Amino acid sequence: MTRRHPETEGLEIDIPESDIDSGFLNRIKGFLDPEEGRRLYRIAREAASLGPCLEIGSYCGKSTVYLGAACRARGGTLFSVDHHRGSEEQQPGEAYFDPELYDPVSRKIDTFRTFRQTLKAAALENTVVPLVCTSEIAARAWATPLSLVLIDGGHSFSAAFTDYNGWAGHLLPGGYLLIHDIFERPEEGGQAPRQVYELALASGLFRECPMTRTLGVLQRRKPGELI
Ligand code: MG
Repeated sequence: MTRRHPETEGLEIDIPESDIDSGFLNRIKGFLDPEEGRRLYRIAREAASLGPCLEIGSYCGKSTVYLGAACRARGGTLFSVDHHRGSEEQQPGEAYFDPELYDPVSRKIDTFRTFRQTLKAAALENTVVPLVCTSEIAARAWATPLSLVLIDGGHSFSAAFTDYNGWAGHLLPGGYLLIHDIFERPEEGGQAPRQVYELALASGLFRECPMTRTLGVLQRRKPGELI
């Protein structure tokens, strides 16, 4: 049965409650706004019939649940890349450090345990393929065309550009390049994701789609499509 979420009134596609339990989603640690999550779900549901999807920066699995549920509904696959050691700002003493995610044995952040619990609870273990490594290492030998790439990993320019450089070339014609945490002004947040978004746009290879909050949405132009 499809139950209409109050927040999704007026949007084209509802997320069926059987696809994602909204109460469960709210309990997953993460920095994704629900409106952005619903947009991820809708785009992935469209894209997943073209080919597999891939996200960079899984953290505890919030975006993974939105994207993975959409892939599962289409019989698709989501690759989820994260070294699970936390980004720069999540290390001890930094602004986004979460002691619950600190592993005293390795003396490092470890989000993989929580991530696996999320996959199990969301029944996504047969849809999501976790790649526990840096995006750069995963990209080295990658050869599978992708219908969607979400860049939401490290927020330094070198990290965001490495993600763009490593993965954008694997997008299928008509596939989506999504970039999270795009802030108009430096006071709102780091500018690296926006800089990469603008580089992608300047390439002329992508069509700009409406943004949802800080989620940038670009679609790879098809051969023969002109600017
Ligand atoms: Mg983010």
